[in-house]
Amino acid sequence: MAFSFIGFGGNLGDARQIITDAIVCLAQRTEVQIINKSCFYQSAPIDAIGGDYINSVIRIETDLDPYGLLYVCQSIEHQFGRERPYTNAPRTLDIDILFYEGFEQNQTDLTLPHPRITERSFVLLPLLEIEPNFFWPEVGQLKDFLPKVAHQRISRLTCKNCDCGQQIH
Ligand code: ADP
Ligand code: MG
Repeated sequence: MAFSFIGFGGNLGDARQIITDAIVCLAQRTEVQIINKSCFYQSAPIDAIGGDYINSVIRIETDLDPYGLLYVCQSIEHQFGRERPYTNAPRTLDIDILFYEGFEQNQTDLTLPHPRITERSFVLLPLLEIEPNFFWPEVGQLKDFLPKVAHQRISRLTCKNCDCGQQIH
């Protein structure tokens, strides 16, 4: 059993509903347990065209190995009509493995930890919301990277079942 963080994003269709449904799909897998889920965030596209993105991060525990987990994530993307007409095209659903406990490699088909964890507010903010003191030895405290992404526009959306929504910056 390993823990992992998974990031979701989308900017086509009802992205909030699509991410909600994709998380349900993941939860239905017997090899995956959802431990925690961030709020939804709305972020400006970076190096991409199209409208704002909706993002969320979850923490899971899983019996799948990293490639097994990637396969499951890609089948869920496919199920929700993900197409890849060109790099950074608008997308119905993007699912990235951000971190997988005890696994590091730098291969095109699977890079872990995900290189953009420390570079994108839409990953850092939701991940730190559910794991405020997340630390890994090669990188240190994740929250120390917040100042570097302070210029990337993002806001946390109001949840349906709580009043946590607030403007971040
Ligand atoms: P991106 O997420 O970079 O915008 P895609 O979702 O189209 O682009 O993914 C392109 C490729 O990235 C996938 O075919 C996948 O094999 C690879 N990839 C490498 N590392 C990861 C990771 N940590 N999580 C998900 N996909 C990854
Ligand atoms: Mg992706």
